[in-house]
Amino acid sequence: MKNLPDIKDLEKCVRCGSCKAYCPTYDEDNTEAMGARGRLALLRGLLLQELKPTPLLNEKIFSCILCEACSGVCPNGVDITENIYRGRNMLKQSDKKRRYLRLLAKFFIRNPDLSCKMLQMSQYVLFPYLSKKGIIPSNFKLSKYPFKERAQVYKVAKKRGRVAVFTGCAANFLYPHLGLSLINILLKLGYEVIAPGGEVCCGMPLRALGLEEEARELAKRNMRIFGKLKVEAVLSLCPTCVTMIKKQYPKIINSGISNAVDVSSFLLERLDLAQPSLFSRKYATVTYHDPCHLIYGLGIKDEPRKMLKKIGVNVVEKKEKGCCGSGGLFSLTNKDISGRLLKRQAESCLKTGAAAVVTACPGCMMQLSKAITKMPVFHIIELIEAAYCDSDGV
Ligand code: SF4
Ligand code: SF4
Repeated sequence: MKNLPDIKDLEKCVRCGSCKAYCPTYDEDNTEAMGARGRLALLRGLLLQELKPTPLLNEKIFSCILCEACSGVCPNGVDITENIYRGRNMLKQSDKKRRYLRLLAKFFIRNPDLSCKMLQMSQYVLFPYLSKKGIIPSNFKLSKYPFKERAQVYKVAKKRGRVAVFTGCAANFLYPHLGLSLINILLKLGYEVIAPGGEVCCGMPLRALGLEEEARELAKRNMRIFGKLKVEAVLSLCPTCVTMIKKQYPKIINSGISNAVDVSSFLLERLDLAQPSLFSRKYATVTYHDPCHLIYGLGIKDEPRKMLKKIGVNVVEKKEKGCCGSGGLFSLTNKDISGRLLKRQAESCLKTGAAAVVTACPGCMMQLSKAITKMPVFHIIELIEAAYCDSDGV
């Protein structure tokens, strides 16, 4: 019975509605079943066999962004998102709408290099179509090579410490230059960096599709590699990967990468800048977008802002907070709500008058770039590299 929603946890819900108030899908749709509390009630009904799976019911469970905005807000400690992940696992057989996406996801995860080569070859035909459909930004191009083609150890003359990089699929295949920026900074700081071979997808996209067993296999493979490394930290440019390998692996395979950390938290404590670089004149003022899995999943809000301040950049806050509508595969499966959430964030960014938008997640970068074309959208690591390594990349 493992991996079903936890009925004891669900019965702790007293229907106070606190979680609903934080839920972006409820905010957009305003119906009970599109909010955190309503989804839990549906799961409870399914477990007690008062309800049966239907396309409509499945849609409510699969329309959760898994943003974790409802995490930790429940006064009775209900683990809302964990129950929703498990609910999806329970419903995957009856959920026909996403069956092809599951097949595609499994194919990509098993053959990432081949999938990327196929995308490479078809990009001039396929990408204009995907962009027209609002799936990718209009100017998006795949790099010829991923960040990590093989295992690599980056050595330094005077070693201050040793870290490993968990690259993640988006940074590896879609934005490989981000990995290189991170390596440059770490080497300049005196860290030996291990990019181990054999890393696979963190498993989050599969788990989000209800493919719990497959996600667990990936988790075990990553643990076999990262679990035995003697490193100060395992760094990732993707907060979704950090959330998964640190917080969700213990829930699905009973062990996780406890020293996994997002890059801005790690670098903030270690980066020493005598004075802001010339770079900051170009992007003296930026606005910052909080990735959901960083702010809600990992509780990291101040560190990226402090990091930007440290490199001489002012942050002007946008009025609208919350999800950009990316949510991994959410932007593919729930285009209406995703599009509305994106519009809200994009308009709010533009209203700030900032010179650029900065975020800390490759998924948010991709999503925001679809709607924001009048100003650049950066990953924070690009700005840190420009300031600290005098790179002219931005
Ligand atoms: S994870 Fe996000 S979208 Fe899902 S129920 Fe919680 S707040 Fe709503
Ligand atoms: S905050 Fe907790 S108790 Fe209140 S409705 Fe949500 S899950 Fe139920």
